[in-house]
Amino acid sequence: MVSSGVRSDEARISLPNNPGLRLIGFLHGLFGLLGSSGELPQILSRFLGDLGEYLQAEGGFLLATTDPTNLRLLAEFGAPFTEEAHDQRAISAFYDELIRKQRPALADGDTPEARSLIGVPLVTEKRLIGVVVFFRHDRLPAFVAEDIPLLSVVAQPLAIHLENVDHARVTSARRAELEAILSSMEDGLLVVDQMGEVLSFNHSLERLSRYSAAELYGLSWEDLLSTASRHFETFKSFTRALRDGQEFSARCPGSLKTNDDQEIPVSVNFNTIVEDKGTITGGVLSIRDVTLETQVDRMKDEFIANVSHELKTPITTISGFLQMMISRDMPRAEMFPLLEVLKGETDRLHRLINDLLELSKIQAGRIRLSLRKFQLEGLLKKSSRALRVRHEETHRLSIDVTPVRGMILADPDRLTQVMVNLISNAVKYSPEGGMVAIKAVRQGDWWSIAVSDEGIGIPPEALAQLFTRFYRVNENQTAGSGLGLFITKEIVERHGGRLEVESVEGKGSTFTVYLPARGPL
Ligand code: ADP
Repeated sequence: MVSSGVRSDEARISLPNNPGLRLIGFLHGLFGLLGSSGELPQILSRFLGDLGEYLQAEGGFLLATTDPTNLRLLAEFGAPFTEEAHDQRAISAFYDELIRKQRPALADGDTPEARSLIGVPLVTEKRLIGVVVFFRHDRLPAFVAEDIPLLSVVAQPLAIHLENVDHARVTSARRAELEAILSSMEDGLLVVDQMGEVLSFNHSLERLSRYSAAELYGLSWEDLLSTASRHFETFKSFTRALRDGQEFSARCPGSLKTNDDQEIPVSVNFNTIVEDKGTITGGVLSIRDVTLETQVDRMKDEFIANVSHELKTPITTISGFLQMMISRDMPRAEMFPLLEVLKGETDRLHRLINDLLELSKIQAGRIRLSLRKFQLEGLLKKSSRALRVRHEETHRLSIDVTPVRGMILADPDRLTQVMVNLISNAVKYSPEGGMVAIKAVRQGDWWSIAVSDEGIGIPPEALAQLFTRFYRVNENQTAGSGLGLFITKEIVERHGGRLEVESVEGKGSTFTVYLPARGPL
């Protein structure tokens, strides 16, 4: 036992005495550092420290460079390299050798802190990555040419390591950029392989399709998308292009089949992925939800049908009545009620045409306000009077303004239009005998003007769309274009205000206009 213990001790002691093994052991430890986990600055400091100690240097540093004029300190060890040391003349020739000629160099410094310098360039494939420099004070002997090979041996793996770290940093920055772009996209994005199987996708696709990421990986794009028969050919061409490795790009409408069995109308953009050598490695599908566009299209169609009907009804009445008056020799007294009807019908036509003109003005951004200061109560009374002919026999109306003589800076004609729209809706969508209450209150710099009715109310699910142009809760309700509230809201917002609605189905609705009392903000 004793003898074996002695042998093992001898073996351990003999290592440092063997310079070759000692160097191998040292290099092994040093390169091992590069592969260790941890932050780069810490790894480099330890690397430099171990190497400096081995070289019996007083201090050292590692400068990284993207171009020879731009060097930045990446790590240092031991005594600092002073400003004076940097300024000495010998240094510039030393750097010239290291950086421009990319060769190891030795130098005798002029300052006691850096009497002797040794350095190596860090080069990969002719590209300079940085330099490593060590220095000794004047109490130690100067570095010698024999110290250079060790530094050169160390320089190459260090250069490769720094380049790899840089590559990894750039790659991860690119990946992060790409991920940020993909996840900020509203369109769903699907990447498929040549068999059409899902390889990757963005968050929008998960959200749109309501599939989890794990579920999506098991699908092919054809499990997710379908199309009308007239677009089958595009779908088939994409599958063929993927399989046969042909370039392909097309857009066509389709439906996205969601996890909860819904069909979302979408527009699909197909593209094959072409790699450097022209090889097709898969495809990308960008999928846009066109639900809203489809809805607007449908509303427009309904609107055209509706407007045609709205135009035709009064014109039929007007022409019928006129015909009657022409063909019969009517006494004046009998004519009166007919003339009232004719007036009502022409008013109706007038309103519709005005709404259409307003819509086109809004869309062209051509609504101009003509601001004036006036008493709000007067305007509310005038607006309700404009409607009186139509509602006074059927509805009760109240106006309450606090403070009574309160002023507002606004466009009086436009505000009248807003009030007429809201009051006439309150009348139109509430039964005979109902109460329509207008209540205006000034609070600080704001007026709130609420128009409440005891009418049919609005279902909660319709509230979000109420101010969209052409939107009508129920097409068959009463005559209307679905433009009034849209126009009202636009005018209110042009004044710097807002329009809100509260409603209980079957009980009634309150539309409240909030306006800045001192004019648009
Ligand atoms: P229109 O009355 O011409 O249809 P609007 O834009 O003025 O168009 O109104 C849009 C829809 O909002 C109406 O079709 C109706 O369904 C609903 N609506 C508006 N005001 C009221 C109200 N006071 N009570 C109930 N429903 C209303």
